[in-house]
Amino acid sequence: MTPTPDQQESATTTRRPRSALVVGGGIAGLVAARDLAMAGLRVSLVESRPQFGGAVGSHMVGGMVLDSGAESFATRTDVVARLIEELGLADRICLPAQDGSWLYLADGPRPGGRSGVLGIPGDLDSSELRKTLGSYGRWRARQDLRRPARIGATATTVGDLVRARMGSAVVEKLVAPFTLGVYSAHPKDLDVDSVAPGLREALREKGSLSAAASSLREATRAGQNVAGLRGGMNVLTEALVKDLAARGVKLVAGYDVLALDRDPRREGWIVLQREPRVGDKTAIARGELLVMAADGSSAVRLLSGMDRELSHLQPDPSPKVALATLVVDRPGLNEAPRGTGVLVAPNAQDVRAKALTHASAKWQWIAEALPAGRHVLRLSYGRATSDGGASPELALTDEQLVTLAMRDASTLLGVRLEPGDLVDADVVRWEQALSRPSAGHPQRVADLREGVSRLPGAVAVGAWLAGTGLASVVEDTRAQVAGLLSRHGVTDGPEAQGGP
Ligand SMILES: Cc1cc2nc3c(=O)[nH]c(=O)nc-3n(C[C@H](O)[C@H](O)[C@H](O)COP(=O)(O)OP(=O)(O)OC[C@H]3O[C@@H](n4cnc5c(N)ncnc54)[C@H](O)[C@@H]3O)c2cc1C
Repeated sequence: MTPTPDQQESATTTRRPRSALVVGGGIAGLVAARDLAMAGLRVSLVESRPQFGGAVGSHMVGGMVLDSGAESFATRTDVVARLIEELGLADRICLPAQDGSWLYLADGPRPGGRSGVLGIPGDLDSSELRKTLGSYGRWRARQDLRRPARIGATATTVGDLVRARMGSAVVEKLVAPFTLGVYSAHPKDLDVDSVAPGLREALREKGSLSAAASSLREATRAGQNVAGLRGGMNVLTEALVKDLAARGVKLVAGYDVLALDRDPRREGWIVLQREPRVGDKTAIARGELLVMAADGSSAVRLLSGMDRELSHLQPDPSPKVALATLVVDRPGLNEAPRGTGVLVAPNAQDVRAKALTHASAKWQWIAEALPAGRHVLRLSYGRATSDGGASPELALTDEQLVTLAMRDASTLLGVRLEPGDLVDADVVRWEQALSRPSAGHPQRVADLREGVSRLPGAVAVGAWLAGTGLASVVEDTRAQVAGLLSRHGVTDGPEAQGGP
């Protein structure tokens, strides 16, 4: 007799699952697939692009393999370092140069402070701060030291919190260049708990925002907010894919998952692909458990095909970003005139980039691989416009964007770059890779997760839920997968018993 849907559902929840399906092969999907495979499940991972890794990818520029997206990881926790160690890459972990970055304000360049987080200054006595903020701006910032800790404690956005404690000049001149560079969003549009976890608790404990920002910074490895990998973060993707292949994970690249369905015979999930091969009735991938690791809008589209209620939980639109990487021969840059790079204030008129990374000054492994006088510069475009529209630079062709990047780099670095200096260039455009966690983001994430938990054996992971950045994504993914496994009685896979 055929079981009723209820009987099928109850069988799914009581029988220990043996297989899992992961949709999306960015860092979240790769990490999820690995943890599922280590728990002893048969895993299939489906990725729409030809390569895995999502925003942790590589490209060849000037004869060198460089990161095309993420180039570092935050060290506020050891979660990424632990993953790197598990993959046998610990000896490749490296710290960026200590020089720090600069700011480019409406009236020109300034050395940036390095004692806080998110651009929030930890040291309110520095003479640089007076030059950057002006005397009133610095006086207002120092009110942070006198105001009771409850001021700003209920603010939900970074902008409101910093403005309440330190005033507008700190928001616009120090914090906005940072958040626009990293999140493509103004501080007023960012949920404070999502982008600076622990900052409000530290404010309550330490009594001032500057002390809170310093304490978060000191808590990081070697006082540096970030670390990298020799060879670039793309080495992590490569190692994960190799590890998954060795564990027997079925890796399917180049298949855009169009829809999900329940497998009526095997009580699990199947994906429906774009071009089913004629006569091939077998789904390309299936699994009793489902980890949805696609970007936010794709994930909600796919999941709401199974439960319409989820369709109203669409994430905020992703900021679009274009990254222009330039390899130039210009010995004048040997002295790293702007340290590791420059963050641009939103009201700077003579530059269109939102940030520049002097990659060969920041990472020793890049400098060592280049001939004398050669440099790698990464400029990012896609400033948030005041009406939330698309940044006009993104409409430029690759060639036009490279020309603009050469001009912007000259202005930001204070060293004139001529067209003849350009050895090679590449433009990479990211459309769905960044999340913009606006106020109320944690509640929306909780609602979404509550909705997904109604689907049998499913969880959703990725930066759109966990927050931008490898540290947030890896930590959240591992926690979500561990929860899924334990809810389904998978607690002791072969790994736990002594190896794959
Ligand atoms: C330019 C740039 C620079 C960055 N720099 C840093 C940095 O230095 N440090 C840092 O910590 N973070 C950085 N980040 C952020 C970080 O890279 C991301 O937060 C993280 O990589 C996101 O991982 P993810 O797996 O959640 O998403 P993604 O990497 O976006 O992966 C999602 C995957 O799902 C796939 N997919 C989507 N739809 C489907 C479908 N229908 N079927 C199958 N597959 C699908 C996509 O192709 C993609 O591969 C940067 C991001 C960008 C864009």
